[in-house]
Amino acid sequence: MKALVWMHRDLRQADHPALDGALAAVERGDATHVDVIYAWSQAVYGNWMPGQAQQWWIHEHLKDLLRRLARCGVRLVVTRQSPSAYLAAETGVHSVHFNDPLLPAARREAKRLCKEADRRGMAAFEYPGDLLHDPDEIRTGNGDPYRVFTPFSRRFHERVAPERCEPLAAAWIDGASRGRTGTGGPISSDDVCEAFARLDRLGLHPRHAWVAPLASAWAVGEAAAHDRLAAFTSGPITQYAEGRDRPDEDGTSRLSPYLAIGVLSPRQVFAAVRSVRAAAAAGGATDTETYLRELIWREFGYHLLLHFPETASTPLRPEWSRFPWREDAAALAAWKQGRTGFPIVDAGMRQLWQSGWMHNRVRMITASFLTKDLMISWQEGAAWFWDTLIDADLASNTLGWQWAAGSGADAQPYFRIFNPESQLKKHDPRGAYVRAWIPELDDLSYAAPIVDHAAARKRALAAYETFRKATKKDG
Ligand SMILES: Cc1cc2nc3c(=O)[nH]c(=O)nc-3n(C[C@H](O)[C@H](O)[C@H](O)COP(=O)(O)OP(=O)(O)OC[C@H]3O[C@@H](n4cnc5c(N)ncnc54)[C@H](O)[C@@H]3O)c2cc1C
Repeated sequence: MKALVWMHRDLRQADHPALDGALAAVERGDATHVDVIYAWSQAVYGNWMPGQAQQWWIHEHLKDLLRRLARCGVRLVVTRQSPSAYLAAETGVHSVHFNDPLLPAARREAKRLCKEADRRGMAAFEYPGDLLHDPDEIRTGNGDPYRVFTPFSRRFHERVAPERCEPLAAAWIDGASRGRTGTGGPISSDDVCEAFARLDRLGLHPRHAWVAPLASAWAVGEAAAHDRLAAFTSGPITQYAEGRDRPDEDGTSRLSPYLAIGVLSPRQVFAAVRSVRAAAAAGGATDTETYLRELIWREFGYHLLLHFPETASTPLRPEWSRFPWREDAAALAAWKQGRTGFPIVDAGMRQLWQSGWMHNRVRMITASFLTKDLMISWQEGAAWFWDTLIDADLASNTLGWQWAAGSGADAQPYFRIFNPESQLKKHDPRGAYVRAWIPELDDLSYAAPIVDHAAARKRALAAYETFRKATKKDG
């Protein structure tokens, strides 16, 4: 009888409450071994199947996970079935274990899975998801969800600091690596090969040349994620408050791709940051608070998405669905391809295309440019980011785009419009970032701006003024 673990966007071994729970069932003798399933299914992802860049990232991490689990005697099964359908057809299951999958469609599937387990007379165990605090428990005094970041973050700090889960899996991984396979016995190499073949058949690995640069930009695997965390907390974190606004420097953690699919948990990041903070208390300043604030923005994004699930595709403030966004296929294509003629915008869009990631400051600039200079809707931008970011995260992407467009909770007002020239001077003063991504920048033939920023700004402000008056009158 096996304990079945459903992994969704928590593709790791360590600090994995559900995996720990399943292993504990084996230790108690309730189950003989653990199987893990990963479901590539619309029932789980809803309208938000991962985009192409992230498909590659998931594929690579499933390979890593498959190898790691096999070494410990755990089979990873990839399937196109939903977890509930998989369970319905599976025999010899003792219990089902999963972490709260946090996203709306996946939570609906989790309910179906519990129902199926119940129908079969087996226990289903749900454990905390990849957040520092349960998003349902942070509420205003009236019990409502927050819409404004600062009070949300205050309430967040009032709560007890999150702990890492019991490190049973860590001890077991260690035991397994010393030759004790622990659970169902070693997985044969034939079974591992078959599992790899099944993974390939899912077709997550895009077959075009575009992924080659992604592969050279990012180190794959749980060990690589921990190396990155250690490198950041042993150096750049002490300069984070300034470094975070400099796309020309390596001043941010670049952990978002690992966090997005759960190769690393936010509890692990929090614990590492807390030890830096403890060391700093003994002398020397650090910027850990500024860094933690960013992790709390991530929590805020999930809080909003879970309480207002429609915001992934519609404005949080409903009147914004009447904003007169423009349709302009040529301008949208120039933006996507990094050919707007504004170096900071073009460098960001090329960084995105070539590395699957973009610096936060430049995400804000490119999003402002699309929604204000070009007056193209944030949904177009969010969809492009969704397809091309390896760190695509429905909660953070929705939050970021609605913030930039002015239609979200606690958003930047629409009338604040970034000037791409002054942003460039301020955040990339030597031009190192733009030159790195636009080799032809010094050529006279470099693209002329597709809009005049001053005129575009005026157009956006005029549209906003008309919109503001109309919405005020209506309501
Ligand atoms: C338009 C737009 C779209 C975005 N889309 C995404 C997305 O799809 N996925 C994603 O992970 N982030 C997104 N962000 C947020 C942010 O840009 C990235 O999290 C950050 O750039 C990741 O780099 P890092 O790991 O080096 O961040 P660091 O500066 O090292 O921050 C540490 C972690 O905190 C979290 N974080 C940081 N900034 C934010 C933020 N503004 N909102 C929410 N969480 C944050 C991330 O998990 C990040 O890994 C978006 C921002 C904007 C403006």
